[in-house]
Amino acid sequence: MKQQNYDLIVVGTGFASTFFLKKYLSKASKSAKILVLERGHLFPHAERLKEKRRESTPFAKLNDHSHNTFINNNPEKIWEFQAGFGGSSNCWFGCTPRFMPSDFKMKSLYGVANDWPVQYDELDSYYDQVEEAMSISGPEETPYPRSKPYPQPAHAFNTVDVLLKKKYGNLYINQPTARAKVPVNGRGSCCVSAECSVCPVNAKFTIENSNLGVYEDPRIELVYGSQVFGLELEQNMVRKVNYIKDGKEHHASAEVFALGANAIFNAHILLNSGDTSRLTGKGLGEQYGLQALVYLDNLANFGGGTWVSGNGYMLYDGNHRKDYAACLMESNNAPFLRLEKGKWRDIASFRMIFEDLPSEQNYVAPTADLMKPEVNFKGPSAYTLKAVEQMKQKLPEVLACLPIEKIEFQKPFASEAHIMGTTRMSESPEEGVVDKHLIHHKYRNLFVLGSSTFTTFTPANPTLTLSALSLYAADKSF
Ligand SMILES: Cc1cc2nc3c(=O)[nH]c(=O)nc-3n(C[C@H](O)[C@H](O)[C@H](O)COP(=O)(O)OP(=O)(O)OC[C@H]3O[C@@H](n4cnc5c(N)ncnc54)[C@H](O)[C@@H]3O)c2cc1C
Ligand code: SF4
Repeated sequence: MKQQNYDLIVVGTGFASTFFLKKYLSKASKSAKILVLERGHLFPHAERLKEKRRESTPFAKLNDHSHNTFINNNPEKIWEFQAGFGGSSNCWFGCTPRFMPSDFKMKSLYGVANDWPVQYDELDSYYDQVEEAMSISGPEETPYPRSKPYPQPAHAFNTVDVLLKKKYGNLYINQPTARAKVPVNGRGSCCVSAECSVCPVNAKFTIENSNLGVYEDPRIELVYGSQVFGLELEQNMVRKVNYIKDGKEHHASAEVFALGANAIFNAHILLNSGDTSRLTGKGLGEQYGLQALVYLDNLANFGGGTWVSGNGYMLYDGNHRKDYAACLMESNNAPFLRLEKGKWRDIASFRMIFEDLPSEQNYVAPTADLMKPEVNFKGPSAYTLKAVEQMKQKLPEVLACLPIEKIEFQKPFASEAHIMGTTRMSESPEEGVVDKHLIHHKYRNLFVLGSSTFTTFTPANPTLTLSALSLYAADKSF
């Protein structure tokens, strides 16, 4: 630590922190002093590839495995993420649809959960900025409004996508994605190898390959191996951050603080610090998903330019959301075969992803070990489970333009790898933890970033939206 007192201290180096810093740096003075505390280390892409090839690399042991960083009281439910520089940008798959405008108005449109205090229109230009920064590839028409075209052209559909597009128009689109179509900033072009957790050609956007210039900025001091465990709170302000580095306790003070440690650790740090907001830690959740295998009668499914080639919105929006959850379809295009002679390609595979509602029975809590939270999860809501049953009934009709032999549903995934809801955004402190600018309702110099702030859990992938929210928060607040 070079300074005694900083203008800003940021925790974590994932999407939430990095997009917040990007906007903050564009507005801050040349002499601004910013400390970034990262619990892990840089594990470069080239070294990750070695690990994937089962070659040895000294970097492999630098970062804690996520499963060792918290106590999971329900081992049937998995929470997936990666600690270390860039967070889960290193292993994410780069699916980046926007939310629908209706996702922000669940209470006023459907009488369910709460409305978000921020609305789609306010985020539109920040969505544009994140899509530009990540060089998102996407289609010309979308079910949600856009004021600008996507920076990169869409990836090609596969055979089945083409038929669904013809039938459903803008309710069936090429998936918007951070898996590059055109090589950009040293990233290669996606070639459908479907090994996206460590992309062999570095096609997907990561914080490491982002080219955003954030961590090269001389105003930033980035300190690795620093695990934040608490904040010192005084009269509704944060005064200091407390962390462990090299086995020793350290403290640093600043005017403003930002937590970007994900929905488990943002809540844990606040709870360790004595945050008395009733909802801190509560409402942990994510989407619920399962795979539908569609066996086709004499239709060879072929082509497609990326791992997920289509998104279907046929079961997403509408009045049914008063009663049961929205469902987003992903056309999964990883190379796979039907195991029947002469029918190798007569199959399509869809991931069906359902929204869920935050519930207080699912929560993060502190433990006797200051460095390790516990995670409690009872299960998805009845609202979500009803939608799964409805989808099973409706899917044959939705796919009626295809020559279907049979549909098989697989058992639900243990994780969608999207962790949300433990510091929710709300109009009032009674209904949540942070306001529309992601500032804590009580501690007014503290930003809480990322999908822990999501008011509800729409079926769309969260990262584009949480990154846009980070830009929005930094833009509106400085
Ligand atoms: C396998 C996988 C696939 C995914 N695919 C997609 C996808 O296709 N589309 C999509 O939208 N989303 C996807 N996600 C989710 C996406 O990765 C997350 O939404 C996103 O990474 C969240 O960003 P974040 O910055 O809030 O948190 P993280 O990425 O979790 O980053 C948190 C950062 O904080 C650091 N940190 C944590 N605790 C502390 C502490 N106490 N002190 C200091 N530093 C700390 C971490 O080391 C890390 O740098 C996927 C996730 C996984 C695991
Ligand atoms: S499908 Fe293959 S090339 Fe495309 S992002 Fe994933 S791993 Fe990379």
